[in-house]
Amino acid sequence: MIIVLNPHATKEQVALFKNTLEEKYGVTVNTWVGVESTVLGLIGDTTQIGEDWVSAQEVVESVKRVQEPYKKVNRKFHPDNTVIELPTGQKIGDGSLCIMAGPCSVESEEQINYVAQRVKDAGAAFLRGGAFKPRTSPYSFQGLKAEGLDLLKGARKVTGLPIVTEIMRVNHIDMFESVDIIQVGARNMQNFELLKELGKTDKPILLKRGLANTIEEWLMSAEYIMAGGNDKVILCERGIRTYETATRNTLDLSAIPIVKKRSHLPVIVDPSHATGKSSLVEQMSLAAVAAGADGLMIEVHNDPKHALSDGAQSLTPDKFDEVARKVFALKKAYDEIMNS
Ligand code: PEP
Ligand code: MN
Repeated sequence: MIIVLNPHATKEQVALFKNTLEEKYGVTVNTWVGVESTVLGLIGDTTQIGEDWVSAQEVVESVKRVQEPYKKVNRKFHPDNTVIELPTGQKIGDGSLCIMAGPCSVESEEQINYVAQRVKDAGAAFLRGGAFKPRTSPYSFQGLKAEGLDLLKGARKVTGLPIVTEIMRVNHIDMFESVDIIQVGARNMQNFELLKELGKTDKPILLKRGLANTIEEWLMSAEYIMAGGNDKVILCERGIRTYETATRNTLDLSAIPIVKKRSHLPVIVDPSHATGKSSLVEQMSLAAVAAGADGLMIEVHNDPKHALSDGAQSLTPDKFDEVARKVFALKKAYDEIMNS
């Protein structure tokens, strides 16, 4: 952190300020005295020092952070990739391509069991499905709720696929005890109370990027979970809102290499919510693999035309077979190219 001091600050004020930084935050403060201004360079862990607090001090003219405000998420302090391993053996972030697939919403026992079997046969490692749905309209289908969770567990029993499903409230954490990966949706990426509570669990958390959030804000949300003691965080890029209307969101593919450079956490891509169009899912899935994603989350429905949510972006099981075949083939070629 670099702090430019106010030229009118007195020696006593500066000494007091430097002392506070050193004593309270344990950083080393280097001072450069120039003709026009004095600059402080802080060395050490500055993640606890708020820029707002620094700017508000009378002795300060301006402040610039040169180190990222996140620590546990930061690759600088954890150079190796984080690999998340489930008790059932599935791994995310180990260099393999992990596919999570299933309907937007769990709708019935027949539907979820059928889709689960089909995505498993195509090579998916996880079954996704929403039981509690965050919908833009209060009149839209809100999910089967607890019954949906039971149906997911039933499908897991039948197929052996671990389940991923979205949580929306802190007081549902107990209800999600037997869920394998808890998803935090885009709309809750900055629900800090929820993130803090999930930080106290030992469940893998799939943290989707918010609709209008920067990469840094996304990583800070992951930091909330990790700061609570839970280091099993998987990031999911699902498109961000831009002025473009041709797609539901704009898939930020460059976020993948950026996040992988800044952080050690695995990153997966959801081309379904990113595009909103089933016709774009194949190409964006391939693009995500080529951009270095650790996995994909893809919506698959037995009958997309009659889906209770997100039918337009859902693949049929037959189309998913084809997409999965292509992405695994591309992943093989990608690994060969990258390792050659
Ligand atoms: C979902 O995965 O069903 C979902 C609601 O996604 P998002 O939070 O990315 O909109
Ligand atoms: Mn959906």
